[in-house]
Amino acid sequence: MFASSRLYGLIVLSRKGFHLVNTHYHGDHTGGNEIFGKEAPIIAHENVRKRLASGSKNLGGETPPAPKGALPVITFNDRASLHVNGEEIRAVHFPHGHTDGDSVIYFTQSNVVHMGDDFFNGMYPFVDIDNGGSVKGMLAAVDNVLSTMPDDAKVIPGHGPLSDKAGLRAFAEVLRGTSNAVAKAVAAGKTLDQMKAEKILAQWDSWGKGFIKTDAWLATLAGEAKK
Ligand SMILES: [Zn+2]
Repeated sequence: MFASSRLYGLIVLSRKGFHLVNTHYHGDHTGGNEIFGKEAPIIAHENVRKRLASGSKNLGGETPPAPKGALPVITFNDRASLHVNGEEIRAVHFPHGHTDGDSVIYFTQSNVVHMGDDFFNGMYPFVDIDNGGSVKGMLAAVDNVLSTMPDDAKVIPGHGPLSDKAGLRAFAEVLRGTSNAVAKAVAAGKTLDQMKAEKILAQWDSWGKGFIKTDAWLATLAGEAKK
C-alpha cells in the first residue's frame, strides 16, 4: 500500500506504521521528509542523502542544504527491499536518468511499479543534467523496466496520470524518437536555433505542453547529442 507519492515522498503504509521512500532528491518528492522523518525511517539511494545534505543547484534555482532531520537514515547503492504487508517492495537504483539518485519501486505482489521521475506521463520530462541526469540514462532505465515488469502492472509516474505498460512504452518511444531526430540534426551541423525554426520535433508536439516545453526539450537533447 502507498499513500502520497508526490510532495511528501512515497509513503508505504503497514499495520505497524509507515516507511518513507524518496525516489530522488527533488523538493517536490522530499518535501515531507523533515515532518515524516520524526515518525518513520526515510529510505533512499545514497546520492539522495548526499544532494540533500550538500544543497544543490539546477535550472529551478538554488536549494540550500536540508536540515538534518530531513535526511534519509537508511541509504543503499544498487537496491533495497522492504518486507511489509506480506510483500516485497523493492527499490532499484538506475544511474544517471532524471538525476544520479533515482530509484524505481516495485510492489511485487500488488503488481505496481512506481517510476519516480524517470517517467513523466504524456509530457516531456525534466532531466536534471546539473545533478547527474541524462536522457540516455533515463531511456535505459525505462527500457530496463519495460523488459522486466509484468504486462498487466499498474505504472505510477512521477508526474502525470496513473499509467500502464503501454503508457510507459509510449514515453520510451518519445525519448528515443526525439533523441534520434536531434542527434541527426546535430550531426548534420544544425544549430539549436535552426532546429527550433525547422520545428524538428513537430510530430511530438502534444508532449511539449507540460512543464518542459518543446524548445526546452530540444535544448536538453541538443546538449546531450553534442557530448
Ligand atoms: Zn524530480
